Parts: sequence; C-alpha cells; structure tokens
Amino acid sequence: MVCIYCHCKTDVINSRPQKRINHTWRRRQCQGCGAVFSTTEAPDLSKSIVFRSTVRKTSPFDRDVLFVSILQALGHRSDAITTASALTATIVAKLLKTAQNAQVNRIDVVHISYEVLLNFDTAAAVHYQAYHPL
Ligand SMILES: [Zn+2]
Repeated sequence: MVCIYCHCKTDVINSRPQKRINHTWRRRQCQGCGAVFSTTEAPDLSKSIVFRSTVRKTSPFDRDVLFVSILQALGHRSDAITTASALTATIVAKLLKTAQNAQVNRIDVVHISYEVLLNFDTAAAVHYQAYHPL
C-alpha cells in the first residue's frame, strides 16, 4: 500500500487480527514523509457471496442492507448504531457458516437475524419479524 499523502511505499509497523469480525487492522508508516495511518483489511462480501432472495432471484450480498434492517429494529435504543454494527457482524459470521456454494438464502438471513436480535432485545426481534416475515 502507498502513503495516503505522498504515494510513497509504506511499512506495516503494527498489525492485529480481529477474529470475531474477520478483519485485520494495520498501522502503517510512510517511507517517504514518515506519516502514520491505519488500514483495515476485510473480505469483500458483495464480490464473494450471492444472496438468494427467491428460487430464481439472486443478487450480490449487501452487508449494508442487513445493517439498515437491524438498525431499524433497534431504533428505540440510544446505542442503536453501535449495537446494530456489532450485531450485524455477528449475523454475518453466522451466515457465512450456513453458506453453501458461496450463497446465502433470504430465509437463513431472516431466521439468523431474528435469533440474534431475540438474544439481545426482544422488542427489536419483534420489530424485525414484523417487517421481515418468513
Ligand atoms: Zn507519505
């Protein structure tokens, strides 16, 4: 990776795997200007996983669509954004375990999302279920 400021080569000076969300955080230092900045490496789910909404309809998996649906279910909470982000990471990790042939089915997304929400906040689970019937 090149420096975000001067485009010279950079060295990795610290690296930490974030196993739960399958990301790698890296601290980099520019060989040219000495600037220090952070990067995060994460799998590109939209290019890796297909979302099957019906027998015939598929689309790239969109983590942001899932995040928004979880955020809406948590709308009554003051910590909705941070909680939705964490719960979305949990749901994605569970979904990837169910994926077959790099596909996830709508029914699995709805079922796993509901179960994760139910373990965390019953009102959010009920809200989610009302907008995402099986
Ligand atoms: Zn630089």
